[in-house]
Amino acid sequence: SQTRYIVSACLAGIACRYDGRANTCPEVQQLVAEGRAIPACPEFLGGLGMPRPPCEIVQGKVVNSNGQDVTQHFLLGAQAATEFAIQQGCTAAILKSRSPSCGYGQIYDGTFGGVLVKGDGIWAALLRQAGIALYSEENLPEDLD
Ligand code: SF4
Repeated sequence: SQTRYIVSACLAGIACRYDGRANTCPEVQQLVAEGRAIPACPEFLGGLGMPRPPCEIVQGKVVNSNGQDVTQHFLLGAQAATEFAIQQGCTAAILKSRSPSCGYGQIYDGTFGGVLVKGDGIWAALLRQAGIALYSEENLPEDLD
């Protein structure tokens, strides 16, 4: 049977980014249209509004550009989105690169200066722990058609 994907909602064309825009990725939109992928946005599920200030991870905490600690929102949303992915039978994820929630492998360093460091976003880390295979819009799965 075909792989079922959980995908970052912004890649599916949903305007849930912090700045009120989407990160539309045509391949991801196509998977959703075919019923093979389900969109989710952990920051929205965690109760953060749209638009919202950008956030970065600083020493294990998530802080927005106004200096507010939004770690609990990120954790609750990531947990809800991970449970949803498992409940929906997803075994792989296509996630927005470098997001403090969805990025995997590298994220920003917490200085809001565009500097990348090794690490996973909060949701990506939970999906990885749950054994879900991780891909991004810059590293799409090879068997999409
Ligand atoms: Fe996209 Fe993930 Fe950010 Fe939501 S949390 S806007 S799905 S990158």
